[in-house]
Amino acid sequence: MSTETRRLIEQRLREAGLKVTPQRYAVLDYLWRHRTHPTADEIEAAVNCRFPCASRATVYNTLHALREAGLVQEIYVRGGVTRYDIRLEPHHHFICRRCGRLEDISAVVVQVETPDLFTERTVESFDVVVHGLCAECRRNEADLSN
Ligand SMILES: [Zn+2]
Ligand SMILES: [Zn+2]
Repeated sequence: MSTETRRLIEQRLREAGLKVTPQRYAVLDYLWRHRTHPTADEIEAAVNCRFPCASRATVYNTLHALREAGLVQEIYVRGGVTRYDIRLEPHHHFICRRCGRLEDISAVVVQVETPDLFTERTVESFDVVVHGLCAECRRNEADLSN
């Protein structure tokens, strides 16, 4: 863990008006180093190795506080469990139906730019999750059919 990353995480917490607690730090640090969009259970398991005192409820409360403060994004996956993302700039996701890998799609290919549709509503966010086969699973499937 570089001191630079530590400084950035602490700065993000402070800018969001959150106190730097060991649990908040541990969760952000884990998400920072694992850009795989882990589930709350995966985060809990990892954080618990370092802070055996971090109960399931603590980790869930921490994730909730970080989400409310805009420091993590929740990704809802059809028929699956919520996953977490530390990347805050707008991006879409691709989920593999075979291995469950959730990948970032960097370009924003869909935008809400038809204000007429939302006259009496306020758009706060929207999610795009593209479903299919990841590159690796596609190769494996091609191998099998040869
Ligand atoms: Zn896959
Ligand atoms: Zn992402």
